[in-house]
Amino acid sequence: MEPRRATVRDLRRRNRSTLLSTLFFEGPLSRYELGQRTGLSAATVSNVVGEMIDDGLVVEAGLVESDGGRPRVLLRVSPGYGSVIGVDVGETGVKMELFDLSMTRLAAVDRALPPPQPDPALVGPLIAAGLTELLGQAGVDEADVLGVGIGVPGTVEQGEKVRVHAQAIGWDGIALADLVRECGVGAPLFVENGAKTQGQAEMWFGAGRGARHAVIALIGSGVGATVITDGTTYRGSTSSAGEWGHTTLMFGGRLCRCGARGCLEAYVGAEGILDRFRKARGGRAIPRPDEQSQLDFLLASTDRSATAAAVVEETVGYLGAGIANLVNLFNPERIVLGGWAGLALGTLLLPDIRRATAAHALRHAYEQTSIELCQLGPDAVAVGAATLPVEALLNLGSDPRERRPARRSVTPASVT
Ligand SMILES: [Zn+2]
Repeated sequence: MEPRRATVRDLRRRNRSTLLSTLFFEGPLSRYELGQRTGLSAATVSNVVGEMIDDGLVVEAGLVESDGGRPRVLLRVSPGYGSVIGVDVGETGVKMELFDLSMTRLAAVDRALPPPQPDPALVGPLIAAGLTELLGQAGVDEADVLGVGIGVPGTVEQGEKVRVHAQAIGWDGIALADLVRECGVGAPLFVENGAKTQGQAEMWFGAGRGARHAVIALIGSGVGATVITDGTTYRGSTSSAGEWGHTTLMFGGRLCRCGARGCLEAYVGAEGILDRFRKARGGRAIPRPDEQSQLDFLLASTDRSATAAAVVEETVGYLGAGIANLVNLFNPERIVLGGWAGLALGTLLLPDIRRATAAHALRHAYEQTSIELCQLGPDAVAVGAATLPVEALLNLGSDPRERRPARRSVTPASVT
């Protein structure tokens, strides 16, 4: 009997998940519209929605006229059912934001970390203290937090113990969630690579919305990508997939931060672009204080400087070749280009980048793809991290804090 019971329970969970997700992404909707969009019967919609209203997860949101009949009640996910928190652990500091379930930001906290590298022993207490401050700002009780999503640099190995491997900042197998929990944080914790959380934010609320097959390509100082195939993030065997920046563009080429030669990142990452510009200037420093203003200087100099124009033209060519590799490998319907340097290049040069991609991609695959820019800006890591507990809620169709009911085993004791 056990398999059959499990099946009924699974079906119930799946229906809740389907209806809750549809309301989250497309609501407010009437029961009738929910049936139309999910293919579930009127009776199932009515039962499951009734349960979710009793649980406080779904609320009514006004009425809509229907043709000739009685007005229909609109439903939506209750914004006040719980709060979610997104954390962006960067190389120089930690940003934290608190949202309700309509993803309205209710509070934000920004904390700097002492240079040169974020010390994991400091990050745990900083997140715990930031959480207390966020809750105070928003007037929210810790018991109402559904979960805390944490976006980090580097690879996040998901498993029994979540481990962060971030070569560039000296983190080697750091169990960040444990460090945060040791500081007294009781809410469920979700740790993910920051570029992947930013990618998820674009997929849910930005330029990726509605696409089933997409690549979010992010260029900052480093270069990475989130690959979405059939609506799901492609992770690989230990979650390190998407290291687009370390695919080889030039055999034996420029030295990359990862230690290999010829990586795409060494050519189109901001650090790589600026280093090529400096070399083209005969080693002279670029007259601006930081990478962002140096890249702006380069892009603004193309009219008066043949050197700058050549470096930018080459960069567009390298980037087109890199994007064409994504087109040929993944056959996406959309490529979304972002990251602060990606946006700086794309805002000025998107038509040229498209042309350069077309020159290197297989024609048929390229014709199925559009190349767009990120809409949420370069600071979407925290909101993306906050989608992790929401995703758990939508997948389960219920509060991720509830312990799953232990599978009842039929022992002699329980039979008597
Ligand atoms: Zn590399």
